[in-house]
Amino acid sequence: MIFTDTAKPLVMAGPCSAESERQVLDTARRLSAMGIGIFRAGVWKPRTKPGGFEGVGSQALPWLTRVREETGMLTATEVATRTHVREALAAGVDVLWIGARTSANPFAVQEIADTLAACPDGVREKLTVLVKNPVNPDLELWIGAMERIRLAGPGEIGAIHRGFSSYGAQLYRNPPKWRIPIELMRRMPGLPVICDPSHIGGRRDLIAPISQQAMDLNFRGLIIESHCDPDAALSDAAQQVTPEALKEILSSLVIRDASKPTDDLARLRGRIDEIDTKILELLAARMGISREIGAYKKQRDIAVIQPGRYNSLMQQRVEAAARLGLNEDFVRNILASVHEESVRQQL
Ligand code: PEP
Ligand code: MN
Repeated sequence: MIFTDTAKPLVMAGPCSAESERQVLDTARRLSAMGIGIFRAGVWKPRTKPGGFEGVGSQALPWLTRVREETGMLTATEVATRTHVREALAAGVDVLWIGARTSANPFAVQEIADTLAACPDGVREKLTVLVKNPVNPDLELWIGAMERIRLAGPGEIGAIHRGFSSYGAQLYRNPPKWRIPIELMRRMPGLPVICDPSHIGGRRDLIAPISQQAMDLNFRGLIIESHCDPDAALSDAAQQVTPEALKEILSSLVIRDASKPTDDLARLRGRIDEIDTKILELLAARMGISREIGAYKKQRDIAVIQPGRYNSLMQQRVEAAARLGLNEDFVRNILASVHEESVRQQL
């Protein structure tokens, strides 16, 4: 069990892949020396294309056992099949995670859940299972994967936010789309959600800023890839950092306390609540008028949508919004969804 201490952010670290016994132990000793308590390493690696390094497989499991025995760290690895689960549990791995390509596939998740459900009570009850978000930005699929695993009865479950695949070059390897994990936290209160800045950023220099953002958004912890010799890593070299660089990153983070709101904050939140109430009342009034317009158009056989009217309305509102210092995309999104609902009301 890893989510017992709620005071400090939880940190898991270790290489993308277990490559050799020397690499695993060197990295683990250095991480352990700086106080990291959970060691991650991929034993079986899902690679996007064939020919990439697919992990050394089960021969790495005894290396994780040595990490636990020598350093006292808990160990964590990715599982994608029934065989992975059985072998990892037989080797005494403490934390299993389901990767982003696997959590997108309900058949694979169910196979893992069934294998967990069939393992002895004593083993299952001590186990932590973490579910990464699916590669595609589908919150229901992510929640569904967690429900399947929860029903299998492991000791505890948690979620890992690792960003979402997208097409074309951009700043992030997997853009974070923060509103999805935030909505997950709202939908599943109490579920520990940790952030994986390594796979979101894909670059060493992005790990610190993404980690800070995650801390500001009240994530429960971080899982960060760390390698004894990052440039020589067989997978994800560009995003791995040495244990010493990781220490610097972690000590640079500002952990703000979400649990002690002040009076000033309460007053400001009160004003936000009032404004939100007004926004809702105005939207309700606007929809009332839409329904009247709908009845009017119906009586006179006028089509519900007049594209010219929609375009000029959008243009005027976006210009007005710019004068108020509002972001254009933000206003366009809101107006598009207000208009969509308005059309629905008229129909
Ligand atoms: C990993 O953690 O090394 C990994 C393969 O991650 P993801 O499933 O998020 O791509
Ligand atoms: Mn990786």
